[in-house]
Parts: sequence; structure tokens; C-alpha cells
Amino acid sequence: MCSRCGKAAEGIPPTWICSVENHTRHYFCEGCARANLRAIESRLDSAWW
Ligand SMILES: [Zn+2]
Repeated sequence: MCSRCGKAAEGIPPTWICSVENHTRHYFCEGCARANLRAIESRLDSAWW
């Protein structure tokens, strides 16, 4: 499920992005990944979202 919007998915679609923060995997759906690509790439903590 998407860590940001809570969108559920069966398995993890290849278009989703996996971000590892504090040794925990977070998955983001296509829309959220695109909207937060800059933040993900700079490895910002997602807690502020
Ligand atoms: Zn999402």
C-alpha cells in the first residue's frame, strides 16, 4: 500500500517506487512518486508529508 495516500495494490506494481528510510521500506504509487520524486531522491524523511 502506498505510504502517502494509502492506495492499496496487489503486490507492488513496477511503476511504484520503493524508498528506504530508517531501514524501513516505503512504497509510493505512481502519482505520489511523481509528486514527491524530488523529496524521495534527496532522501528526505517522509514524516513531514
Ligand atoms: Zn499514493
